[in-house]
Amino acid sequence: MSAQKCVRCAKVATRLPRGLCKGCYNRARYRGTLGDYERKTRTVAETIEELTHLGLDERLPIAPQLRALAPQLGMTYRGVERAWNRHRKQQAA
Ligand SMILES: [Zn+2]
Repeated sequence: MSAQKCVRCAKVATRLPRGLCKGCYNRARYRGTLGDYERKTRTVAETIEELTHLGLDERLPIAPQLRALAPQLGMTYRGVERAWNRHRKQQAA
């Protein structure tokens, strides 16, 4: 994963939820201003919804479809696969 800059303080970090470094994220959460920052990650439900919209067919082998659709979602195959697995687990529960 490539390093990114925090949108508030420009501190470089590898993992930035909502584009914020840990310090800024905690500060925003404390102040209740997290909603001001755009969510960069999709929820599992949103990802599955998009995959379905793009033509994912659960009756066909899933892996090749996820591999083909991942770039269209701007996601990595691993990221899509993870969302899919979580989705399946939720269905089974
Ligand atoms: Zn910051």
